[in-house]
This record gives sequence, structure tokens and C-alpha cells, in this order.
Amino acid sequence: MNKKEFLKIFNGSQFISGIHNYCDRWCERCSYSEKCSVYTMDTKVQKGKSSEEEKEAVKNSMEKTNESLLIALEMFEEIAKESGIDLEALRINEEAEKQKELEAIEHPIAINSKKYSYMAYEWTQKNAALFYKFGEELLEKENLGIYKKQDTINLLEINEALSIIQWDYHQIHIKLMRALKNREVNWEFEDEIQNDANGSAKVALISVERSLKSWETLLELFNERENEVLEILAVLDRTRKDILKEFPKVRQFVRPGFDE
Ligand code: SF4
Repeated sequence: MNKKEFLKIFNGSQFISGIHNYCDRWCERCSYSEKCSVYTMDTKVQKGKSSEEEKEAVKNSMEKTNESLLIALEMFEEIAKESGIDLEALRINEEAEKQKELEAIEHPIAINSKKYSYMAYEWTQKNAALFYKFGEELLEKENLGIYKKQDTINLLEINEALSIIQWDYHQIHIKLMRALKNREVNWEFEDEIQNDANGSAKVALISVERSLKSWETLLELFNERENEVLEILAVLDRTRKDILKEFPKVRQFVRPGFDE
């Protein structure tokens, strides 16, 4: 992609500005993909390629992202120069950033959410055989002619619950780290509600709440794993309570597109 194509996408009025900043990145389920410049850029990169090329493009997606960032940076520097802005004065203080990162890593919310991502990952890996066995039992029921509509509902619910849990377990920690690192409000562009910390914490909170529901579904259907699931639920619910305590205005944050 060149600068001209990049500008064409970003100047398109059909896009919702900043929508990708506070989403869960689950593009295949997103109702706003047509209004998202990031999604459009990604699909534009893929468009017109053979499946072999697509694989190659996926492999190189990080490079593509870097390419876009470099173009954006180059444009930003040009605009700053034309406007007489001293970029040196705006350079991020690396030491201060490192300090924020360290403080975020050591924060109880980050420790707890990281613990949750490990627990959820391990549980889903360890119990893969359990889900397989569940599927086999359904096949057997079908062979015996005792398959019920409720079996299909259960199967769909398990699939949905696992999809959500697996999509969210790393993301919750990542979004909370960002929220913790960016707690200092930039009063020039933000306010006490519309700020990056609240936006990032809200995305995490939404993931936490839907993951809690998903674990409850698994608890109902696999009660032989009750103790393990209850332990995970306790850690995740702790994270939910901590988010609400640390970011009391989190629910008031309006995510571009999604909450408007
Ligand atoms: S806003 Fe939707 S389409 Fe865009 S990056 Fe987020 S999830 Fe994907």
C-alpha cells in the first residue's frame, strides 16, 4: 500500500473515527467492519491474492501493520513540520514509560488478570478430551435414536462459551495493562470519562462479563469439573470487581460506534 491508497482509506467519510481503538478485535463477528478503516485496510491488503499469497500475507501481517504505522508516522512528521510543531519537545520520555509499565505489571489487577489467562488457557487445553467425549456421546445417542433437541442446544452453547473464553483470556490482561499504563488523563484531548484508560478498561470489562457467563454455561454442563471452574470464576470475578473499583466511570465511557 502506498501513501495515496492509505490516505484514500483514512479520508473516507464512511468510517467511524477511532472505532478500532476500543473493540475486541473479533472482526469476523463485528457488525461495524464496513465502517472500520483498520478492517478495510487489512482486507485491502488481502484482496486479489491467491490462497497461497493469502497465507503469505497473513504471515507478513505484522510487517504490513508496521508499514501502515511508518506511513502514518511519516505523514505526522510532515504535518508537524508544516505546522511548526517541535516534535523533539513531544518525544515520549522512555524512562517514564518504562516506569509506568513496571507499575502496571505489579498492579493487583494485572497480576490477577494474568493469573486468569493462565488458568483459562490451561483448563481449556487440559479438558480438550472432555469436549471430545461430549461430542462422541452425542453421536452415540444419535445412533441409538435418543438424540434430543436439547443436545444440539447444549453443543452450540459449549461451542459458543469456549469461543468466547478462548478469544478473551489473553485480551483481558492486555487491555487492562493498557488501561493501567494510561491512567494519567491527557486533559488536552480527554476528560474524566472519555479517556484511554476508561476505554481500554471497558473493553476488558465487557470481555470479563461475557467470559463469566460462558464459564457459568460450562459449569452447568460439566459439573464434574465444578471445583476447577469455580476457582476460575472466583479469579475472574475478582478482576471484574477490581475494574469497577479502579475505573469507577468505566461504564460511562462511550466507545466510538459501539455505544453511540
Ligand atoms: S472495529 Fe470491528 S472490524 Fe474494526 S478492528 Fe475492531 S472488531 Fe475488527
